[in-house]
Amino acid sequence: EDLVGLNNLVANTAYLKAQHLDRSELRKHMLSLTLPRPKSLALHAAADSRYESLCEQQPIGRILFQQFLQTCNPQYEVAIKFLEELSIWSFAEDETKEKAKRSILAKFCQPESRHFLSFLTGENAKTCKELSCKNFDETMTDQLKEAARDFLKGQPFCEYLNSPSFYKFLQWKEYEKQKISDKNFYEFRTLGRGGFGEVHAVQVKLTGQMYACKKLDKRHLKKKGGNGLALVEKQILEKVNSLFIVNLAYAYANRTHLCLVMDLMNGGDLRFHIYELGERGIRMERVVYYVAQITLGILHLHSMDIVYRDMKPENVLLDGKGQCRLSDLGLAVELPKGKTICQKAGTTGYMAPEVLKQEFYRTSVDWWALGCSIYEMVAARLPFRDFREKVQNTEVTRRTLEDDCKFEHKRFDAATKDIISHFLKRKVEHRLGCRDSDPRSHVFFQNINFRRLEAGLVDPPWVPKSNVVYTRDTDKFVDTSEVQDIEFDDKDETFFKAFSTGAVSIQWQKEMIESGVFDQLNDLGPNGHNCGRMWT
Ligand code: ADP
Ligand code: MG
Ligand code: MG
Repeated sequence: EDLVGLNNLVANTAYLKAQHLDRSELRKHMLSLTLPRPKSLALHAAADSRYESLCEQQPIGRILFQQFLQTCNPQYEVAIKFLEELSIWSFAEDETKEKAKRSILAKFCQPESRHFLSFLTGENAKTCKELSCKNFDETMTDQLKEAARDFLKGQPFCEYLNSPSFYKFLQWKEYEKQKISDKNFYEFRTLGRGGFGEVHAVQVKLTGQMYACKKLDKRHLKKKGGNGLALVEKQILEKVNSLFIVNLAYAYANRTHLCLVMDLMNGGDLRFHIYELGERGIRMERVVYYVAQITLGILHLHSMDIVYRDMKPENVLLDGKGQCRLSDLGLAVELPKGKTICQKAGTTGYMAPEVLKQEFYRTSVDWWALGCSIYEMVAARLPFRDFREKVQNTEVTRRTLEDDCKFEHKRFDAATKDIISHFLKRKVEHRLGCRDSDPRSHVFFQNINFRRLEAGLVDPPWVPKSNVVYTRDTDKFVDTSEVQDIEFDDKDETFFKAFSTGAVSIQWQKEMIESGVFDQLNDLGPNGHNCGRMWT
């Protein structure tokens, strides 16, 4: 007992220390780093050469494009500055918003201003000149925003593709393709255990960035027929890019495991917060905030025709700032519009009637499960199953299909009862979230500004303590005896290869920027030329 306790203490200390690392320690490694020469200069002939991806979505691409515009032609710079200020205005509130608006009008819409948008032509030029405090709204600004982007997509983008800045981008892309292995990471304590292996905290050696690494045991996967599922989880994770879903940064394999390296969510899962911290249940203000973020996560998945199918507090994780994200997309499926499925999948207690009856379903099941989850966050029990109640799955199913949901807990207020009741409508066509009904307009969310929430601008109502490990202590023992005799064939190897795609662009580029590695390697010389070191 004591030894387990001591082991956990040591593991926690190392893990907490790593999170408070001093970045200057890393500089020495970076100094010896050089970017590789790009193997191909013809990236702009590739499928991924769209302006949106190269200059807007990929963080390094975005910075290099902006740097290029600033050194090139004053009109190019004006266009990008205009877009930047518009974006600030659109998320601002009250006085700041007024101020932003007046600044935009004075700077970009007055012909005598140095920053006048003189590249606009025809209708757009007219709109720009006519823009005033009175007619300044989304419609007008959206038109000018599109015009400015169209301008940048033309001549400036073409020039960029032939510039040293873009060459540098290709060098970063080459570096991004490096092979990833265990050697890239330090490993820390176990954070949790899943069906196919453990989740560990890890740290990238080069940047100091902390992540969570979900390790799937290859033999275990094969024995349980989980190969397909693991690949689907990986492919869906790398496709989504939302503040409310755990991001994938790397996918790689070692001899024994497939590894998914994701955002480290060190604030614990919501199940832990409901049941393991003091008084059971979560305070209403926090519940509303989490449910709003979860709703945005679910809507993001649905907008990509992905059904989550495993919505439950245990799969919602908090980060160090107290924001939550959906994780564990192992049961998620992609169902193109109009396509339905009747496979029974999910967790007992959260499964919708249509799943239990094995009827055809789509996104409706996630809203049902969200209703169950809100209920659980408030009452610390499920609508159709009491806390720690020993009850057969068939009985939970019967209750789900037949019983009314009761609200006995004192913390349920009218709005909460109402939103839960609407998520728990047995008929899909009556359920909130289905048939074009938008959960975001429910009174339960009356204090939530979804636009600002979506932009990450709403402060969390509760922040995890930075010196606490929000997860249960775990012992190290993993039983692998039952899978000793599994051997791999060519098909397995092909699958491992398809899984191990290395760094995921957007996440990886963010890591390079936030850790300072990008700046360190990207110093421009006095005339905007690259330092010699870059051109190895
Ligand atoms: P499974 O699909 O087998 O259920 P999960 O993806 O849910 O596996 O991971 C198992 C557990 O590991 C979770 O319940 C959680 O406690 C922990 N965990 C998973 N992902 C993360 C993460 N990104 N950050 C921190 N802990 C995590
Ligand atoms: Mg899970
Ligand atoms: Mg899973």
